Amino acid sequence: MSVFCTNCQCEVGYCVVEEKSKKIIKGYEVEYKKKSAHCERCEHPVFVEQLHEENEQEAKRGYQELVSSEAIRIITAIMEQYNIGKRPLSLILDWGELTITRYLKGMAPKKEYLDTLKLIHRDVAAFAEILEKNQDKITKKAYEKCQKRMNEWAKSSDEQIEPFVVGGPEKLELDEEQVPFEEHYFPTVTAGEEELKEHEVSDDKIYQVVHYILDVSEDVTPNALQKILYYAQAFFKVFYGYHLFEDDCEAWAQGPVYPKVYDRLKESYQHPVIQTVCPLDDQEQFFIDLIMRYFGCYSGKSLERMTHCEKPWREARHGLVSVQVEGRVMEKSSIEQYFTDVYKKYNMLSMTDIIDYSTSLFSRIL
Ligand SMILES: [Zn+2]
Repeated sequence: MSVFCTNCQCEVGYCVVEEKSKKIIKGYEVEYKKKSAHCERCEHPVFVEQLHEENEQEAKRGYQELVSSEAIRIITAIMEQYNIGKRPLSLILDWGELTITRYLKGMAPKKEYLDTLKLIHRDVAAFAEILEKNQDKITKKAYEKCQKRMNEWAKSSDEQIEPFVVGGPEKLELDEEQVPFEEHYFPTVTAGEEELKEHEVSDDKIYQVVHYILDVSEDVTPNALQKILYYAQAFFKVFYGYHLFEDDCEAWAQGPVYPKVYDRLKESYQHPVIQTVCPLDDQEQFFIDLIMRYFGCYSGKSLERMTHCEKPWREARHGLVSVQVEGRVMEKSSIEQYFTDVYKKYNMLSMTDIIDYSTSLFSRIL
């Protein structure tokens, strides 16, 4: 590998050094390991695009960790402060019931969520208002437990005792414009059993996902839509431990297809009539966004060829001739096994690492 050295004015070899560096991201001072390259001949710094990208990723990771650890500290303090569990806390905030659980597992919250947490942490009255408003979302017992603690706070504020507040508001100011879309999540690889039973998936969940995809993307084709559903379902199971929706896909000639969706959209693709009974929570929406970003950038035809490279589809098509359009059911277990292997092989520390797989898969069909 050689790069251009502006000092030597020619292509040169380079060596890489790694050092600790700091960068301000959205108001946070983020420490990360920065790699820089130097000309082998004169030691002048040279620019290597790949290293630049790696550094950006590394800094981003540092930022996520920082925001996440800040959120964990605040949430822990809130739970202590108001004597409330993570699930009731999620519910009275009107969030997905597992939202707090996921933040505690290391996901970085969106800015507005973090702002809300900061607010209820430092402002007892704001919390009291939310609690009253949404009290019927939690059990009577949880409410009373929390209410009792609130009364104690009311008493202690009469005595001029301020609640202990983690961090200052200034420390957590994020620049709204710089939060493009929440690419900042770390995985919760497997949900606990407690979480699994909380997630009952209704029959129409898949339509909800379709509805969401069509809502946020203007130009996704029916073929691409099927592949996005497939990858969303496959990776979601690996990262969250439960299925986004219940349906099985079939190995059709054009790749994995959910026949129910195919039939439904065949006639009126532009204005599919989809009942939205089971809303997606913010994690699910975020995850689908991610999949659309990493896979939705390819054409339906490319995605089709990408799925043809993968074991689950190939296995399910075994013995079928290519002219035969419809195919067998692709077993969930086979898909899960394959994508768990992918997860390990690509060393996916974060959901954003899914991009490594999609780009590598795409390069195989070129
Ligand atoms: Zn040089």
